[in-house]
Amino acid sequence: MTIPTTSVSGEPASRFLGRPRSMLIGAEWRDAASGASIDVRDPATSETITTVPSADGVDVDLAVQAARAAFESSEWSAARPVDRERWLLRLADLVEAHAPQIAEIESLDNGKPLLIAQRVDVPSAVDFLRYCAGWATKLEGTTVDLSMPGFRRNEFVGYTRREPVGVVGAIIPWNFPLLMAAWKVGPALATGCTVVLKPAEDTPLSALRLAELALEAGLPAGVLNVVTGYGPVAGAALAAHPGIDKIAFTGSTAVGKLIGKAAIENMTRISLELGGKSPVIVLDDADPKVAASGAANAIFFNSGQVCVAGSRLYVQRRVYDAVVEGVSAIAAKMRIGPGLDPKTQLGPLVSEKQLRRVADYVKVGIDEGGTLVAGGQRHGERGWFHQPTILAGLPESARIVQEEIFGPVLVAAPFDDVEEIAALANGTSYGLSASIWSNDLKRVHRLIPRLKAGTIWVNCHGLLDNALPFGGYKQSGIGREMGRAMIDLYTETKSVMMMH
Ligand code: ADP
Ligand code: MG
Repeated sequence: MTIPTTSVSGEPASRFLGRPRSMLIGAEWRDAASGASIDVRDPATSETITTVPSADGVDVDLAVQAARAAFESSEWSAARPVDRERWLLRLADLVEAHAPQIAEIESLDNGKPLLIAQRVDVPSAVDFLRYCAGWATKLEGTTVDLSMPGFRRNEFVGYTRREPVGVVGAIIPWNFPLLMAAWKVGPALATGCTVVLKPAEDTPLSALRLAELALEAGLPAGVLNVVTGYGPVAGAALAAHPGIDKIAFTGSTAVGKLIGKAAIENMTRISLELGGKSPVIVLDDADPKVAASGAANAIFFNSGQVCVAGSRLYVQRRVYDAVVEGVSAIAAKMRIGPGLDPKTQLGPLVSEKQLRRVADYVKVGIDEGGTLVAGGQRHGERGWFHQPTILAGLPESARIVQEEIFGPVLVAAPFDDVEEIAALANGTSYGLSASIWSNDLKRVHRLIPRLKAGTIWVNCHGLLDNALPFGGYKQSGIGREMGRAMIDLYTETKSVMMMH
């Protein structure tokens, strides 16, 4: 057991990890009805740190019932928008108050550098919950001037209402566990929905801590339920449950399609935030050093386990060598180690399965004719580390160019003409994001409309803002989270027509 004994300040993570965890259904902390559990492992050592319940359909059904009862309870349904705002603000305050502990739990569970958990995951989740709190009191319909034939103007009043969609099933991935929980729970509570949240089996811990804090914040029982379990069991049961009004999913495209198919059977609303194969496009007026450092960060941040990871690097010929050499030099110097080591820049991958997936893709890339420019190997024998890796010389049709890897693996290619870059950038089935590195506004503005991607960055990559909608084109998903757009995903619009 590798349980750290102290956190940076306040309550230690060991207090949370010191015993098997249970899941929250209604007001009760429960084990799975079957008694089954899942070992939660530290990716740096592969050792078990604690266990969580392995829920199945029976537990999911109880959680959906609890969420339904809460949705219909007057305590929740009659709560004023300003009350929901306060609950969300209190929850945000509590997460912030326990930030050191939660960051440590996140780092240990996912493997990510503690500094990243402290500076990105936890504060982003806190900010987002506060952003959502603000929305609770700003939900509006419209008044509409009607013009039906045969009636005079002003004989009718027409207006629309925004109503909560109902019980939300949220299925989230393991790369930013707390933040992804916040992305679902925030808008759901802001709009008056209730939630059954299923974190990924690899990283269930911060969601369970969030559930504890939700109770401490005084959120009525059943408004937030957290069931832990395997995707094909608990996740599938949630997606197919007729008592769920909306499924909010972030994860792989393959699983997103399964969830979409299950959901449509009950006409459950869906939002799907799926995979990506985002291009980093460097035009030849860019400073190669700046572009190299941006490109390295775009792919190696969070060990490449990021849906918007810049996994394809396209550099205009004149600066190609300088940029690729720059990224390779950064890759070669990155300090690989456990997330809790303050010197670590690149943590382990989340699981043995993920390490195998990354290693297999690197092999496939070499078989497809790729040349290794950097890395290429597993790092060490203990834990699930992989070197930051760059391949070049691949045809665009190569699997490693087309398929999402979700690891620290970059493919690099030169291009000559700006006219050809949009086709290259759009040449996969994904369309989540892209970045352009250039200060030539004319070329940048011409390129932006031609890229089929939900987010375009210019001279930066991977930054998200709560007020900017986020989501994918093509196989990268359906719907936009964050910003005003997220309200559409968690509400139904009701039209009212009144004759007078
Ligand atoms: P990965 O394969 O990289 O773990 P997934 O898309 O499978 O990514 O995981 C994202 C989330 O989807 C996790 O919470 C996982 O448990 C869940 N999941 C996996 N398979 C299914 C499924 N068949 N139905 C519903 N949820 C699933
Ligand atoms: Mg884990």
